[in-house]
Order: sequence, then C-alpha cells, then structure tokens
Amino acid sequence: MEVARKREPEKRRQPRQNITLIKCPHCGNDTDFVEVADNVILTTNYRQNQDGSFTQESDDSQIMGEIRLYCSECNADLSNFHPRFVEMLF
Ligand SMILES: [Zn+2]
Repeated sequence: MEVARKREPEKRRQPRQNITLIKCPHCGNDTDFVEVADNVILTTNYRQNQDGSFTQESDDSQIMGEIRLYCSECNADLSNFHPRFVEMLF
C-alpha cells in the first residue's frame, strides 16, 4: 500500500477517482440505471429527397411529465438521485 501511494503521477491520471458514485441503496448497483420520462412528445422534422427517401433534419422532444430514475438491477426508484444524474450526464 505504501508503495502504491508514492506513485503520484499515476494517481493524477485518474481525476475522477474520488467522485462519489450514485449507488442503489437497495442492491448496491452503481453501474446500470434507467431513466423514464412520462408524457413525451416527440417531434421530428424530415426533408424528402428527390429520390423519394427522407432525411431527418432535427429532433425535438418535449417532456410534459415527470422524469424518474430507476436502478436497472432491482428497479428501485432512485429519482432522488436524478438531479445529480443529469449533472453528470455528458
Ligand atoms: Zn438496485
């Protein structure tokens, strides 16, 4: 352990090491999550090409209802973590 701690350059290559992960309090899962949105209106714009095919131009979704976050493993409702989930979404 002491030897590992002295290897500072390696530590610096992992800046996210000390970040607290969202973890399901029920089953301990900290890798798989499901986001569920209620009442979503999906609007997609298409352009018809000369050969009759369509190309998607833009995609606009409006969420009218609630957004919830669930654990993928045990389906526990983790919506309390949703604001943090959104913050960490890249
Ligand atoms: Zn869980």
